[in-house]
Amino acid sequence: MRAAMNLFCRLLGHTWVPASETPKTSWNVDKTGLLLVATPAGESRFYELCARCKAEREVAPARRPRPKA
Ligand SMILES: [Zn+2]
Repeated sequence: MRAAMNLFCRLLGHTWVPASETPKTSWNVDKTGLLLVATPAGESRFYELCARCKAEREVAPARRPRPKA
């Protein structure tokens, strides 16, 4: 799903705010249909969210060291 870009975002750029998402454990029935199996949804995700249009962008986890001039 893709939201239309907000007019202000188009004019001024996005207003990024930090956001995070913690994985939820989902429970699924296994092949036998008798047992519940927990499926962890992965690691916590950190990203930035636009306060206006809710666009998302990934946050680079590590910064590259700058070479000295
Ligand atoms: Zn935006």
